[in-house]
Amino acid sequence: MIIILKKDADKSQVESLLSWLKDREITPHISTGERETIIGCIGDVAKMDIGLVQALSVVENVQRIQEPYKAANRKFHPQDSVIDCSGVKIGAGNFQVIAGPCSVESEEQLLKIAQSVKSSGATMLRGGAFKPRTSPYAFQGLGKKGVEILLKAKKETGLPICTELMAIEHLEYFNDVDVIQIGARNMQNFDLLKEVGAMTKKPILLKRGMSATLQELLMSAEYIMASGNENVMLCERGIRTFETATRNTIDLTVIPVLKRLSHLPVVIDPSHSTGYAHLVEPCAMGATAMGADGLIIEVHNDPQRALCDGAQSQTPEVFDSTMKKISAIRPLAWRM
Ligand code: PEP
Ligand code: MN
Repeated sequence: MIIILKKDADKSQVESLLSWLKDREITPHISTGERETIIGCIGDVAKMDIGLVQALSVVENVQRIQEPYKAANRKFHPQDSVIDCSGVKIGAGNFQVIAGPCSVESEEQLLKIAQSVKSSGATMLRGGAFKPRTSPYAFQGLGKKGVEILLKAKKETGLPICTELMAIEHLEYFNDVDVIQIGARNMQNFDLLKEVGAMTKKPILLKRGMSATLQELLMSAEYIMASGNENVMLCERGIRTFETATRNTIDLTVIPVLKRLSHLPVVIDPSHSTGYAHLVEPCAMGATAMGADGLIIEVHNDPQRALCDGAQSQTPEVFDSTMKKISAIRPLAWRM
């Protein structure tokens, strides 16, 4: 339910409305916009008497919200959310590119890639330390050591780092990590979502599960937000379809669809979405034009020898040229 307040609503009456809601175990979310102030109500509102609230002199209108996601819903928060990733802001017109290898393989490899993506204009560094691999025999990532290498690269380049958390027990290694990625395979690991919601306020890059609907993605964001962390970014990374020409099917429609449904930033991953390096640039350009708030792109200095996802990794040279094209497109990007 949302309560839209009158423009000149008396502050003390608004305060008493808020405490009245809290007495009924409703958590109010206040969103103050240029045009109106909205109180989003989270909790069991079914039994609430709408007429009673509607009759208050400070209240302009009351609406029930049909969608099961509340905190993530644009109706609760009409302005775009801006997520602050250690000083690098994303959303509401702030566009960022997260780049780096699929996996951290060595200090030498990561530092080299970090320097090159930074010089091409990337504003955050990615790299998997804990890797969700389909095969138990494949490289599983360097784990804690991988996070330490990421922190070295952060110190050298100043780039905030983004890396995947697979198990809550590893959170203790993530104290200096700037953005926590929840991967596609864990999008519906509800216990993990609740834990990252409750135990940290760090920005979360939540990837869409490979067979998840957008409502399911938003419900997963809701889990994190309802547990106390509202700093969520939604990431499209391709979905499973009947098509076999690409690793996954990139769904760029998510950008305008999610922007209507939610206020959270939308990040596109053209690397996992396509599976092939030569498809990354056109999809990155398309996503930029369609109004993505950011991109996450895999870059490797020696893709043929990469321990993971070499086929979809751009070389630093190609990434540099992609970045130039993206920058040219940005001023024309669609906005709601
Ligand atoms: C990754 O970013 O390297 C990754 C494993 O992503 P996803 O969860 O989208 O497969
Ligand atoms: Mn990868």
